[in-house]
Formats: sequence, C-alpha cells, structure tokens
Amino acid sequence: MISVKDITFGYSKKKAPIFKDLSLELNSGHIYGLLGKNGEGKTTLMKLMSGLRFAQSGSIETMGFPAPFRNPNMLKDIYFLSEEMYVPAVSIDAYIKAFAPFYPNFSLEKMQDYLHQFEMTDMAQNMSKMSHGQKKKVLISFALATNTKIIFMDEPTNGLDIPSKSMFRKVMISAADDDRLFVISTHQVRDLYSLIDSIIILDGGEILLNSSTEEITEKLLFKVVDSIEEAQGALYSEDTLRGIYSVFENTEHLENKLDMELLFNAVLCEKQRVKEIFNLKK
Ligand code: ADP
Repeated sequence: MISVKDITFGYSKKKAPIFKDLSLELNSGHIYGLLGKNGEGKTTLMKLMSGLRFAQSGSIETMGFPAPFRNPNMLKDIYFLSEEMYVPAVSIDAYIKAFAPFYPNFSLEKMQDYLHQFEMTDMAQNMSKMSHGQKKKVLISFALATNTKIIFMDEPTNGLDIPSKSMFRKVMISAADDDRLFVISTHQVRDLYSLIDSIIILDGGEILLNSSTEEITEKLLFKVVDSIEEAQGALYSEDTLRGIYSVFENTEHLENKLDMELLFNAVLCEKQRVKEIFNLKK
C-alpha cells in the first residue's frame, strides 16, 4: 500500500540528510507503531509518505500514486493527524461541516460513536475552549470517521491522561479493519501496547526493524530471570527490582510476550545483531 524506495531527504543541504537510501514497505490491514527517539525523523517520514514533503531522491508510492504528485484520489484517502493541533473557534458540528467534505467516505454516525466512546457528547461545544486532551479526542474521532484508507497519527497519545489512553486504544481497535492502514508514531513506547500489530524502529536515519509482533516473538524471547548467570547470552538485559528483564534470541521458538520498551532498548543497543536475526540487509 505504501512503498518507499531508496529515499534521501534532508531539510538543509548544508547538513547531513536525515534519511539516506531508506526503504520501507507498509501493507493494509495493519496498525504500525513507528518508534524512535525524539528527532529521529518519524514525523518527517510520515510527511514524505503522505506527500507533504518531497524526497531529494528515490521514490514513494502511496496506494499506487507517486506521493509527491498529491493526486486528489490519493489525498481523499489519507488523513494526517498532526501532533500540533489546528482547532478553529467553532463547535464540533461546524468543524465537521467545514472539513468533512474533503473526505467522501466520512461517516457522521461513526464520528458520534467515537466521540461517545471518548465521553464527549456535546456537539455544540466550542473547540477552542476545550482542554488539550479534549481537542485531541475530537480530532482523533474525526480522523477515524473520515474512513480514509490510510491514517497517519503523529504522537496521538501526547496530552491524553491514563484513562483516555486506554479509551484511545479501544476506539482504534473498533476503527481498524483489513482495508485500512494505520501508522502511529510515538516515543512513548508503552502507550501503544496491545494496539499495534507491527513495529517499525527508526534510528540514525535507518529502519532497524520492520516486523509484525508475531514475528518478533518468534525470533526474540522476552523473559525475566533471577540471576546474572541466567541472563548470560541475552542480547539485552535490564536489572530491576522484580528481576532481570532480558531479551534473548528465541532459538527454541518458545511462546512468550512482547515487551515493547525492552524491545526498543534491545534494538538500539544491539543494532547489528538484531538486523542479522531479522535478516535485514545492512
Ligand atoms: P521526530 O518526529 O522523530 O521527533 P522529526 O521528523 O520531527 O522527528 O524531525 C527530524 C529532524 O528534522 C530533527 O532534527 C528536527 O529538528 C528536524 N526538522 C524537523 N522539521 C524541520 C523543519 N521544518 N525544518 C528544519 N528541520 C526540521
């Protein structure tokens, strides 16, 4: 659904590019978590895939369209939920009237359903007077109600309190289906737990990992061990009060549960070994 081939991109010619020969394939029916530290280029990569920025070389095809051409047939099926929110001083109703016409498959019924799930029921409420979290809930509901085939969400859980984060995961699951593709960027790795089915880790301008959660637990074993001896041979370990949280290569194909934060730290610490385990070319 999205094919990124050998792109190079930088904001300034004077500085080293953020991405050099970066390639990536994303398919419909998945919720991807795009993980990376602050400033690694998650927002930039999503902007490139949605035609909001242009690569200096390489190509990006989104739903079969070259992304930089911004074909209206592509744009009507993409929604980009930005981290900075633009909210005019109007009611939710007026916002829908103004912006829904850009999305031919927009569903008012679904918008109301998502708002309801977020416990936001007053459609006459002025959006500029809402709290940061409330604005975010309206915009997340709007994004999902557009029924676009692709939704990019940039740090959507920023500014949401703990109950709202779990509401977000529930709303997302109710909106996901086999035809849609979600890319959700975050540096708060734990927020996406239980929601995403595929993980992309971006670091130092390259993709260190692009795998389904299923493949990750097939290849890696997340285990809490009691002693340093037991942690021998681990790719990565963290000593905590509850034991030594470790990541091993899953050579015996044992069933286990993914720990996203541990995965993230392991991948950043052991880049080369992880690439070899997942057969990624250098
Ligand atoms: P992330 O989303 O992972 O935090 P960004 O894509 O926002 O990262 O930024 C990647 C890098 O590009 C950062 O070093 C940032 O400072 C820089 N950058 C982002 N937007 C611009 C811009 N409009 N002009 C110049 N540099 C930018």
